[in-house]
Amino acid sequence: MDYAAFYQRSIDAPEAFWRDEAGRIDWHTPFSQVLDYSRPPFAKWFVGGTTNLCHNAVDRWVATRGDAPALIAISTETNTEKTYTYRELQREVERCAAILLSLGVARGDRVLIYMPMIAEAAFAMLACARIGAIHSVVFGGFAANSLASRIDDAQPKLVFSSDAGSRNGKAIAYKPLLDEAIRLAAHKPQQVLLVNRGLVPMQLEPGRDVDYASLRQQHMDASVPVTWLESNEMSYVLYTSGTTGKPKGVQRDVGGYAVALASSMQHVFCAKPGETFFATSDIGWVVGHSYIVYGPLIAGMATIMYEGLPICPDAGVWWRIVEQYKVTRMFSAPTAIRVLRKHPVELMRKYDLSSLKAMYLAGEPLDETTSQWIADELKVDIIDNYWQTETGWPLLTVARGVEHTPTRLGSPGKPLYGYRVKLLNEATGEECGAGERGVLVLEGPLPPGCMQTVYGDDQRFVDTYWSTISEHQVYSTFDWAMRDADGYYFILGRTDDVINVAGHRLGTREIEESISSHPNVSEVAVVGMEDKLKGQVAMAFVILKDARPAESAEGRAALERDVMAVVDRQLGAVARPARVLFVPQLPKTRSGKLLRRSIQAICEGRSPGDLTSIEDPASLQHIEAALA
Ligand code: ATP
Ligand code: MG
Repeated sequence: MDYAAFYQRSIDAPEAFWRDEAGRIDWHTPFSQVLDYSRPPFAKWFVGGTTNLCHNAVDRWVATRGDAPALIAISTETNTEKTYTYRELQREVERCAAILLSLGVARGDRVLIYMPMIAEAAFAMLACARIGAIHSVVFGGFAANSLASRIDDAQPKLVFSSDAGSRNGKAIAYKPLLDEAIRLAAHKPQQVLLVNRGLVPMQLEPGRDVDYASLRQQHMDASVPVTWLESNEMSYVLYTSGTTGKPKGVQRDVGGYAVALASSMQHVFCAKPGETFFATSDIGWVVGHSYIVYGPLIAGMATIMYEGLPICPDAGVWWRIVEQYKVTRMFSAPTAIRVLRKHPVELMRKYDLSSLKAMYLAGEPLDETTSQWIADELKVDIIDNYWQTETGWPLLTVARGVEHTPTRLGSPGKPLYGYRVKLLNEATGEECGAGERGVLVLEGPLPPGCMQTVYGDDQRFVDTYWSTISEHQVYSTFDWAMRDADGYYFILGRTDDVINVAGHRLGTREIEESISSHPNVSEVAVVGMEDKLKGQVAMAFVILKDARPAESAEGRAALERDVMAVVDRQLGAVARPARVLFVPQLPKTRSGKLLRRSIQAICEGRSPGDLTSIEDPASLQHIEAALA
């Protein structure tokens, strides 16, 4: 089908369009209204219809595909692999749901899930969905204070956790972090349900902590009917990654989300029941919600849940999984591909990857070097897709299930159906023409699947995201972008990160892209630093592939000149960083996103700010050392 026409129909006749898409899921009672936008910017989709995410992800398939694989839980940390069929998954979810009910969890109650990537975490999410409880998954291993602030925000009745996660063969005790978080939090969950993996000893607090395995024994034959929920009831709260500051609690509905996932599995991910989907993310992030747990299951696929690093036992592990489980679609992040690129390609080439049809990448700009490398190695479609926790599903990409739109290096593609995308000039509010840079915004109503509001704070939703520009109420993505003459979008960086050098506005992404084309550059972060003369100057921090040339002061100076020359040549002297400094590591969030705001703060001699989501605080010392 012609994608342009498909897209246009979603914009011109959204109700007819989404009514059709809604047919991809099961409804218990039909909706009476496709869209209620009587109170903008709050959109209600499929009003009056009742459905259930767990039913659509699990029960719906049991009759026809009960013995087909549903969840494949692989841990290279504990060396375990287990496949659950749809029927087995349903049994486990019902057991888990029965346990939750027995502990007093009711429809509308929040359940905070603080878990490693083990099958029980997926059971817990699906069990919550089944009984109408609202899950809030917090990335496992987040420090106590991060967890405490999310406990206070979500006010869970119960916390579902585990003794430990594991990373690189080392157990990371979760229980002490959780105990500390509950001590710090003002809100006290009544119950803590714990999966004991036997990785580290843990102390149970009488009256509060309960053991999952023993309760499961009591509920082996549990049968828990699905609770039918009105489409606009809440399914979950999920916090944004915290890259730019305090995370926002994204609140999601039931029906709109189920439809958006069923629809995107079809039109973007070309899902086929029976095939295997492998998203390498974590359930603590939105990709994990949409494309590890709910999306593939709603589409009747087998989904892989992987605990482990991409490089353990060696950098071939993902490809071993692809071969063994005949993965057809993979979803990962550029940061992971950059890690793999540092390892010998033989580890990848020794596996039979013929089942694989496409690799989807999201979360951060996909630089051309990385994109080209992985395309050359895999010889499959590399599909960059741009979206946010807030949107729940891709916003810019190529909808391969609709038409074979060619991809363009450096661009995630075009607006996905349902999204009314605009690029606005920040100063004038005018729409940008081709080649002009502006803020990427969406006109309301946001399509199904997008956030309903900020959890518990409608005003914060309006104040944070919405503004009125030239009479249009628009949602800001806070990303800076450009569109070319053929309608392809290019993300240039976050609006906070735009650098203003002597009146020229530059996206950090553009400079980073240019620097990463230098053959010895493995990774780079560019930030703006205050400068008396020019307003701001760009500072570049580079991780080298081969660090030996940077061991001496002369070597560093030569490399710095080299990198500057690349930028001069590609973007012009105005974009040339004031300094190019070499570091062994860059500060990143737990989800692998560059923490430019912290680097910038250090450059400007300020405190690095809220560091709750940082992966390794030592990385900041490398920045300080490089500047000294
Ligand atoms: P916070 O909102 O808490 O600061 P965050 O924005 O990193 O954190 P996410 O919702 O996980 O939280 O990330 C969405 C952001 O990631 C986008 O707004 C964009 O900046 C970036 N991003 C995601 N996908 C892409 C992509 N394909 N290309 C470029 N940037 C991307
Ligand atoms: Mg964000």
